[in-house]
Amino acid sequence: MVSEARVKGWCPGAWRPMASGDGLLVRIRPHRGRLTGEQLVAVCRSAEAHGSGLVELTNRANLQLRGISEESWPALMADLADQGLIDPDPATESRRNLMLVPDWQEGDDTDVAARLLTARLADLPELPGKVGFAMDAGPAPRLTNVSADFRLERGDDSRLLVRADGRPLGTPVDSVQQAVSLMVDLAHWFVNSGGNEAGRVRRHHVPLPGWAPESAKPARATTPLQLGRHPLGAVFGLPLGRIHAAVLKTAVERSAARHVRVTPWRRLLLEGAMPQPLDGLISDNMDPRLSVDACPGAPYCEQASVATQSLAADLSQRIGSRLHVSGCSKGCATGVSAPICLVGRRGRFDLILDGRADGLPTATDLDPSDVCDYLESIDASRL
Ligand code: SF4
Repeated sequence: MVSEARVKGWCPGAWRPMASGDGLLVRIRPHRGRLTGEQLVAVCRSAEAHGSGLVELTNRANLQLRGISEESWPALMADLADQGLIDPDPATESRRNLMLVPDWQEGDDTDVAARLLTARLADLPELPGKVGFAMDAGPAPRLTNVSADFRLERGDDSRLLVRADGRPLGTPVDSVQQAVSLMVDLAHWFVNSGGNEAGRVRRHHVPLPGWAPESAKPARATTPLQLGRHPLGAVFGLPLGRIHAAVLKTAVERSAARHVRVTPWRRLLLEGAMPQPLDGLISDNMDPRLSVDACPGAPYCEQASVATQSLAADLSQRIGSRLHVSGCSKGCATGVSAPICLVGRRGRFDLILDGRADGLPTATDLDPSDVCDYLESIDASRL
C-alpha cells in the first residue's frame, strides 16, 4: 500500500499516505471532526514515535503527521487503528471526504446529515480525490470559503438547501434525509456529466439537472469560530497550522479537554476547556500570526524551492496586513485572495498584490532575504 504513496495528485489519507520532502505525509480524518482528548494525546505520541514530531491542522480540518518512513508506517497505522482513528479500508477513507461545521451539536441537522451520508458512502460514485461534502446547517453558513463541492446550508428563509459549490443558489429541501439523497444524486450527476475531467464542481460548467433547481439563496455567511470562550469550551489557534506534538500534548492535557474538534481555520475547539493561555497555542484574536497563511514549503514539500514558514512568522511581526506565503503557485494554504501573496519560484519569490498564489505578480524574482525590506519599502502595511 505504501508504494502508492509515490504517486501524486490525490488527497492523501492514512491508508494512502503521500510522499513529501520529509518522508510520508499521513492525514487523519477524525469522524465528525471530533476526537477525544485521549485520542489526540495518542496521536501526538505516535507523531513523535513514528514521524518528525510535527502535527499539522489542514484547511480541510484534518490532522496531518509528517516525516513517516515506509518502515514506521505500519506501526503508525496500528496505533491509529487502536485509537479508532482510521477507516476499515482505503476505499471508505477516500469516500469519507466530509466536513462538518465545527460547532455542530449532537442530533442537530449538521450531525444527522453527516451520519446519514457516512452510512451511504457505498452509494457514492468514484469521485475525484478532492471532491468533498460540507455539512454546514447552522443558522448561517460558516464554511462558505472552505473547500467543498456539495454543501448543506440554511437558506435565508431558514429552510435547508443543498448547493453545488460555485453556484449562488441552492435547491431547497424539506428534510435532512432528502438533502443527503440529493447530495448522493448530485455526486452521480457530476460523474455522469463529465465532471471528473473538471475535477471539482466549481470548475464543472454544466447546467445542474432539472431535478436540482437553483432557487434558494443561502443565508448570509457568518465568520469562522473566534478564539476564546465558546459555548462548548474554548477555541485556540495553531500558529501557521502546525505544532510540535509534545507541546500540543501538554496543552491538551493541561486544558483537561474531554473532546477536541478540528476546524478548517487552524483552530481547535477544546470542549469543556476554559479560555486560558496555553503554551504553543494562540489564545488572542489580535495575535498577528492569525493573519498569515503559509504552506509547509521547503524542505517539507518536494514542490517548494523556498522556505515559507520562517518567512511567514517573521513577516507576521513586521507587516500588519493579511499575508499568504506559498511555496509554489498551487497555493495549498488558502484559495482565498490576500492583500500580500508571496509565491516561491526557483528559490526566489514573486509578489502578488490582492490575489491568490496563482495570480499575476506585481514584482518577481525577489531574494528571500530582501522580501521584508522590499515590503517595507512599498509600505505594505497600508495595503
Ligand atoms: S503550495 Fe506548493 S510548495 Fe506549498 S505545500 Fe502546496 S505544493 Fe507544496
